[in-house]
Amino acid sequence: MTSTNDIRRSFLDYFGGTGHRIVPSAPLVPQNDPTLMFVNAGMVPFKNVFTGLETRPYVTATSSQKCVRAGGKHNDLDNVGYTARHHTFFEMLGNFSFGDYFKEQAITHAWTLLTRDWGLDPNRLTATVYHTDDEAFDLWRKIAGLPEQRIIRIPTSDNFWAMGDTGPCGPCSEIFYDHGDHIPGGPPGSPDEDGDRFVEIWNLVFMQYDQVTKDDRVALPRPSIDTGMGLERIAAVMQGVTDNYDTDTFKALIAASCDLTRTAATGDTKASHRVIADHLRAAGFLVADGVLPANEGRGYVLRRIMRRAMRHAHLLGAAEPLMHRLVPSLVAEMGVAYPELVRAQPLIEETLRLEETRFRQTLANGLRLLDDATADMAADGELPGQVAFKLYDTFGFPYDLTEDALRAQGRTVDRAGFDSAMAEQKAAARAAWKGSGEKASDEIWFDIVEELGGTEFTGYSNHAGEAKVVA
Ligand code: ATP
Ligand code: MG
Ligand code: MG
Ligand code: MG
Repeated sequence: MTSTNDIRRSFLDYFGGTGHRIVPSAPLVPQNDPTLMFVNAGMVPFKNVFTGLETRPYVTATSSQKCVRAGGKHNDLDNVGYTARHHTFFEMLGNFSFGDYFKEQAITHAWTLLTRDWGLDPNRLTATVYHTDDEAFDLWRKIAGLPEQRIIRIPTSDNFWAMGDTGPCGPCSEIFYDHGDHIPGGPPGSPDEDGDRFVEIWNLVFMQYDQVTKDDRVALPRPSIDTGMGLERIAAVMQGVTDNYDTDTFKALIAASCDLTRTAATGDTKASHRVIADHLRAAGFLVADGVLPANEGRGYVLRRIMRRAMRHAHLLGAAEPLMHRLVPSLVAEMGVAYPELVRAQPLIEETLRLEETRFRQTLANGLRLLDDATADMAADGELPGQVAFKLYDTFGFPYDLTEDALRAQGRTVDRAGFDSAMAEQKAAARAAWKGSGEKASDEIWFDIVEELGGTEFTGYSNHAGEAKVVA
């Protein structure tokens, strides 16, 4: 079996061997983009190179980039534990051309690596192209010899990538692996494409236009390539399993949590072990990159991830803080590739231990309240927003933790009710503010708090980085 560490190495060796500069992963906290919460794709550290703002001493590069998709525009937090292929933290393998090679070479590299070097069965591979991209369609015929019915034209934004409202953009072509008809799910573009049978392993982005204004798009003089492949997904394929959580890295982490909780990862407990393993990685890497739990911003995303894992540890019957005791397994699995993890091990352990100790003081009472509130509720009922707010405000339950708890029972939470309870509390705080007697300065105070952020952070909207804040 090829280990995940070997697959990462093999990818970087292939592209290093074809003239690409091997660039180490950038930290998870973006260094060049204040609007972004976390690095969520391999191209992020190269943004300014693609736009021409920055030049580097190389024109092609390759990396294995640490990514987190647990907030902002890409948020896969709710998928974790429920799909075989989504994580909050994952590694994106990529090759990049900054105005050097383009479509033909990118497709050739991808096909060569997958089918020649790694020996994937070509009959299990399907490619998508943007519906108007005849060039890519023809290249897949020519280079890979794919039959026409396995080159699927997709008309949606899924196959058209843009950096923002303006800037570089272009069609993309995604490569899917068919895990077999014993797994539910349909081919890309079909109504049941969201299953785990046809898994998107690699996205090739062809940056060929510059969006100058909303309606104006011009061809880039030197088109570029950006690709991204999920390491955990290709590891599943190469290790002959159909689920990322059955790969070597995750198996080791799940074995550790089974050991410590003396439970198996089957039936009811399976999702809990998966959430714990996934969130352990996200928490460990975020702390190693300098993020600490807090009530707002990046730190609140980290706290949400940690507390969610901690509720699952509690569900598994852990009587004492658990997460910090799993850190040695994480370091054993990933410390060789990421030495920052080794350096930060004591800090990661201490941060998890403190957070779990603190959260456990209110966790049991909060869960009791939740049990009472759901006792008479319909099987598919909706939890009142007031209750979710009380759990948040009094017991430190991040909103999505409550949602996760209810989802396992097939129930939902009234988000609008939660938001209005939050708004009400904010208004009450304003009203209770007797003030200094100088109306003008009080107004200014509240404006400042609103602008800079008060104590509680309640989540991010769809616009990456736009925080909603209560005073
Ligand atoms: P999906 O449609 O499966 O959610 P995506 O289209 O959002 O994936 P891209 O933005 O194209 O993903 O990222 C490039 C690659 O990164 C994907 O082809 C996939 O292999 C991997 N990837 C994306 N999101 C995740 C995730 N949450 N966990 C693990 N791997 C991921
Ligand atoms: Mg996605
Ligand atoms: Mg996709
Ligand atoms: Mg994609």
